[in-house]
This record gives sequence, structure tokens and C-alpha cells, in this order.
Amino acid sequence: MPSIVERGPVIVAVSSGGKSPVLARLLRARLETLIPAGYGRLAFLAAEFRDKVKARFAFAERRRFWERTLQGPIAELVFSGRDDEARRAMQESLDDTRIGFSGGEVSLIGAGPGDPDLLTFRALRLMQQADVVVYDRLVSKPVLDLVRRDAEFIYAGKERAMHSLPQDDINHLLVRLAKEGKRVVRLKGGDPFIFGRGGEEIDTLAAEGIPFQVVPGITAASGCAVYAGIPLTHRDHSQAVIFVTGHLKDGSMDLNWPALAQPHQTVVFYMALLGTEILCRELIANGLPAATPAALVQQGTMPEQRVLVGTLETLPEILRVSDVKAPTLIIIGEVVKLRERLKWFEAAA
Ligand code: SAH
Repeated sequence: MPSIVERGPVIVAVSSGGKSPVLARLLRARLETLIPAGYGRLAFLAAEFRDKVKARFAFAERRRFWERTLQGPIAELVFSGRDDEARRAMQESLDDTRIGFSGGEVSLIGAGPGDPDLLTFRALRLMQQADVVVYDRLVSKPVLDLVRRDAEFIYAGKERAMHSLPQDDINHLLVRLAKEGKRVVRLKGGDPFIFGRGGEEIDTLAAEGIPFQVVPGITAASGCAVYAGIPLTHRDHSQAVIFVTGHLKDGSMDLNWPALAQPHQTVVFYMALLGTEILCRELIANGLPAATPAALVQQGTMPEQRVLVGTLETLPEILRVSDVKAPTLIIIGEVVKLRERLKWFEAAA
């Protein structure tokens, strides 16, 4: 009895010839993750155009056409459920007697907080088709290792106070690369739409008419909280969670402190290592008990992850004596206490 992976008319069967059905099942599970769910619809779309393509291209050209179509932008349209657009793009590329379609495109991809297992299937697939990847400092080495090996790698920096490439240059770099016909992957730590300036980058692409898509990633708050054993919400302790930037502007933080200093909520500070002392002081001054639990997660989800736990009163001093390394995230609220019982990641490591 072979194990079967089915995508509409496309069927992959795995058999171990009766030697180890479990091994066949494991292999099937791996194939399931590799083959996009939209493969069935892609096959039906290809069938619709088969005769037209045959009439339009000679044999060798035809093969190249299908190779490009079945793993390029048209396939991606199908995988993201935009079948009508895919059908139109297919028709256009057939009608275009000059160049076929050489147009590049940009994928803005959330690379997650560090652990490469936390990438989405779509992120991985696009990374493995990239001609060029433009990445930030926060993208971990193990994630970069999953990009297609012969892609060109461009470091876009983003170190505090040491921006290797100004944002404007990054925006225009993406446009230029796409106009050269390249499949560009823009890799950002965490989720591109959470403190990632992803909106600005695709705004420029949209203005220039460059095709793009955005792939969500696991944001640092989510990854760090889970790997630290701190549920961000909890029926008994916290009914809301707030993500806020602790980035200092001219040595201070201009935030709505009364709103942040409310009971029964969790507050997660990004980019707050230098601002920890200020934020702990402000939260106490605005009404939170000094004994409110507070944690700092350093290099969350990575094998090097470290978690320091204290209170609003003690955390700044704990950090002063602890040689903390970026990136770090700060989580404040009663839920931090749950870590004592729920931590699982460091215990295993
Ligand atoms: N777009 C990213 C955030 C970029 S801002 C996201 O969604 O996660 C950069 C900040 O993210 C860092 O200053 C730090 O506060 C946080 N961060 C990102 N990765 C982290 C990690 N692995 N561990 C702890 N904090 C992290």
C-alpha cells in the first residue's frame, strides 16, 4: 500500500517495497511540506493553456516557458489564491511576441526571530528561487543558509546608529534589481509589518509598478514569548497584549505611559535595551506596582537564548551586571511568572 501525496491531478506515491512502511510515511510527510497546496490548481491552469502554448512555441522554447511559468511569478499567484490574475498573466505572456516575460519581482519576507524552523513554507520556497537576497542584520545565519546557494547576497545592515544602507537606498535598490528582471527576496527579521519598515519598502515598489508580495513571519514577541515559556495572554492574568517600540529618540521615549501602565495586560517592548531603565521607571511612576514581573529575552528562539527575570524595580540592575547582548525583547506583566512552570526550551537545550 503506497503512501500518497495528492494535489488535484498530481499524485506522488511513496513505497518502501514493503521494507518499512513507517519510513515511507515519514518521507511522505516531508513531501507534503515541500509541495505547495496550490499544485493541483496550477496543474489545471497549465492544462487550460497547454494547446495554446504548444501552438505558440517550438519544443525547446516550450520547455523553457513551462519551467519558468511553473516556478515563477505566475505559479506564486496561484499559490496565493489569485488564480484569475495568474490566468491573465499567462495569457499576457503568450500574447507578448517580444520578450515573453522577463519582469522581476520582489518578495518581502519575514524571516522570523532566528530559529530557521519557524519560517513559513512560502518563505522557504521563495528563498530557494531567489536570484538575489537583500537581508538585514537580524536575519539569522541558519536562515540565510536556506537561501538558494548561487543567489547574490546583499547586506542592508540596520545596526543601531550605524545604518549600513539608508532606507531610501534600500527602497531604490529593490526597484533597480527587480527592473533588471531578477527575482528579489527582501529578508527581514521577524514579521515585515511589525517594526520592520516593510510598508515603506513596498510603497516604493508599488509607486514604480513592480510586482511584489509580502510573506508574514513570526514576530519577535511571539517567538521569544513562546520559547521563554511566557504566554502573552492568559485568562487569569492578562486580557490584552501591546507591542511597543522602546527605541530612544534624543535619550527619551515618547509613549502613552498611562495606557501602558494598566493592570491585566502584557506589554512587549522591542528595541528597548538602552531604554530599559527609563521604561521601568515610567511604568512605576504611572501606576504599575514596582513588583510587576518583567523579563528580558536575549537572542530568543536561538540555541543561545537567555532569559533574565526580575521586576520593574529590579530588572535594570539585573541587566547592568549581566553582559546582555542584542537582540533583546522585554516582556512586562503578571504572565512572566508563568515561566517558572512553563519554560521548556532552555530546559531541553
Ligand atoms: N520586524 C521584527 C522587529 C524589528 S525591530 C519583528 O517582527 O520581530 C528589532 C527588534 O526586534 C530588536 O531590537 C529586538 O527588540 C527584537 N528582536 C528581533 N529578534 C529578536 C530575537 N531573536 N530575540 C530578542 N529580540 C528580538
